[in-house]
Amino acid sequence: MINDNGHFVISLDYELHWGFFDLKSVEEYQENLENTRKVIERLLDLSDKYNVKLTFATVGFLFAKNKDELIEYMPEQTPDYAKTELDPYAILEDVGYNEKDDPYHFGHSILKRIIENNNHEVGTHTFSHYYCTESGQNKNHFKEDITAALDIAENLNTNIESIVFPRNMFNPEYLDVCYKLGIKSYRGTEDSFLYQLENSPESPYYSWQIFRVLRMLDSYLNLTGKHTYDLKKINNKDKIINLPQSRFLRPYNKNLKLLEPFKIRRIKKAMQHAAKHNELFHLWWHPHNFGMHMNKNFENLEDIFKEYKRLNEKHQFKSETMTSMANKVIASLI
Ligand SMILES: [Zn+2]
Repeated sequence: MINDNGHFVISLDYELHWGFFDLKSVEEYQENLENTRKVIERLLDLSDKYNVKLTFATVGFLFAKNKDELIEYMPEQTPDYAKTELDPYAILEDVGYNEKDDPYHFGHSILKRIIENNNHEVGTHTFSHYYCTESGQNKNHFKEDITAALDIAENLNTNIESIVFPRNMFNPEYLDVCYKLGIKSYRGTEDSFLYQLENSPESPYYSWQIFRVLRMLDSYLNLTGKHTYDLKKINNKDKIINLPQSRFLRPYNKNLKLLEPFKIRRIKKAMQHAAKHNELFHLWWHPHNFGMHMNKNFENLEDIFKEYKRLNEKHQFKSETMTSMANKVIASLI
């Protein structure tokens, strides 16, 4: 039963430069991108040590061994974003041929390491880091994109069953597309207005900036609550299971280092609440977030994992992948 104990889900958006090529150049974020492989190796080791399961929501492009393979799986119809700077296909001719000569846009070898570890899940972050609420794209484009993501994953014998929508841009109409393609769960946003702004592209720029600052503050101080979820309550309508995010694990910030203990404390408090009340706590971040100040970030994560271990022993708080969590929810609905 899903309400007999609390659950701990971690999802990581594995995307390399495809996640933000419109915002930052490789040079501006080189250290983070270059260290992403090392970060994933350390994530696997630390998770093994504490028996924590991870879900890597992976951009489909990163399944490709090289550019030829990427192009082979490219959908016939690609989105025609009004904001042309969002189009990843437009920069394809500028990227290298494979992981060896362009480690910022290819990631096949580390993906193989994740799969071989066998303790974790590889889900999708769409094939092309697809923006579901941007104008210039439609449901058909989305369907072709997700189909490509599922097809290319078969090369690594991976059956995709969970999705994280890029930038949490969320179009309710597309959920049925995912469900029909065999995807069982998605990561929804926190149940708070502060976290749902990206769903309204019309929002003025200034409000976006204010909300960003408030969201940052919320990482350290409890402004919006714990965001833990009673799974029985949130999934009675949707066919695809919503496993909403509880908290973004913000990377170590040198300028705010005095506040770091508050950030971790806030996470632990929410974990304790979930463990005691048999709820879900869903933590997420990007592996590249740990690429700078790596040791500090891993110290924080180990602190969180130690708390998990304690709660696991005391309250049977349980670590799950998105799909193992979704399967439990589905079993309880039958
Ligand atoms: Zn992303």
